[in-house]
Amino acid sequence: AKAQGKNQYIFFDDSLKHALDRRLLLENELRTAVEDDELVVYYQSKMNILTHECVGYEALVRWNHPSLGLISPGEFIPIAEETGEIKAVGAYVLNAAIKQNKKWQDEGFGYFPVSVNVSAEQFNQFDFVDQVKKMLKRHQLTPKYLELEITESIMQDVETVLPVIQAFKAMGIQLSLDDFGTGYSSLYILKELPVDTIKIDQSFVRTINDPRSESIVKTIIDIGTNLGMQVIAEGIETFEHLEHLKAKGCIFGQGYYYSRPVPVEKVKKCMS
Ligand code: C2E
Ligand code: CA
Ligand code: CA
Ligand code: CA
Repeated sequence: AKAQGKNQYIFFDDSLKHALDRRLLLENELRTAVEDDELVVYYQSKMNILTHECVGYEALVRWNHPSLGLISPGEFIPIAEETGEIKAVGAYVLNAAIKQNKKWQDEGFGYFPVSVNVSAEQFNQFDFVDQVKKMLKRHQLTPKYLELEITESIMQDVETVLPVIQAFKAMGIQLSLDDFGTGYSSLYILKELPVDTIKIDQSFVRTINDPRSESIVKTIIDIGTNLGMQVIAEGIETFEHLEHLKAKGCIFGQGYYYSRPVPVEKVKKCMS
């Protein structure tokens, strides 16, 4: 038991302690990240994979920490969700994306929707719809050019979320279901929510050579199409992925094959 205790101590002393230190540091500093203007919104284009035209952009936030450098959302968004800071972070990203999309339109860049990832916790704010309405009004952006990307996790609190989603739909905002196939109640959510677009999770695209993944991808495309929804494949990295998806009847896609998420200055003109 002693030896085990010692091992645990060593383990705790090294990697776990570092992980906890970093986590606590991020948790603390996240509180002022928005007001200190440390968040940066990157954009990744969404493509029509048949015509190679850009059809929209997804906003993806990064945290440019003064000493730690660029921190990925995969690391700090879960912390923000736990601490409640996601409300400020989410509002920042929504406002930035709305403002930027209007700017692109004014610059003759093209008319296309910008997609913003929204966490389940953001839907619990009593004034969430009002916040978004005010942002659209402030920046004079037509609601159909805003798309909200939600995940299946919002079904955990469907009673709270459903009226909010219906209010967004009534305004003309688009709704996209992210990471489709990775959560639970996938089909139930399609039945219950007014979803416009399904995003095939990148784990299926990455392994599309595998016959099972291939069948799943094909099935998701068919379900979406039959329900009158748009289907977009995430994580297209290679020409091979692209060809597989085309053969399955996929029309829209997104991934490093086309472009990584980039800061505003590096976004290429959308041809629409
Ligand atoms: P997501 O919404 O599923 O976004 C797709 C992620 O895959 C992004 O990672 C993107 O950079 C990455 N990606 C895109 N194409 C490829 C590809 O071809 N190959 C590979 N391997 N990856 C690709 P990122 O930017 O690190 O974001 C991670 C997650 O963080 C997002 O996953 C989303 O869940 C969350 N997130 C990002 N920004 C926000 C935000 O503003 N609000 C909220 N609530 N969550 C956000
Ligand atoms: Ca700070
Ligand atoms: Ca997304
Ligand atoms: Ca996704």
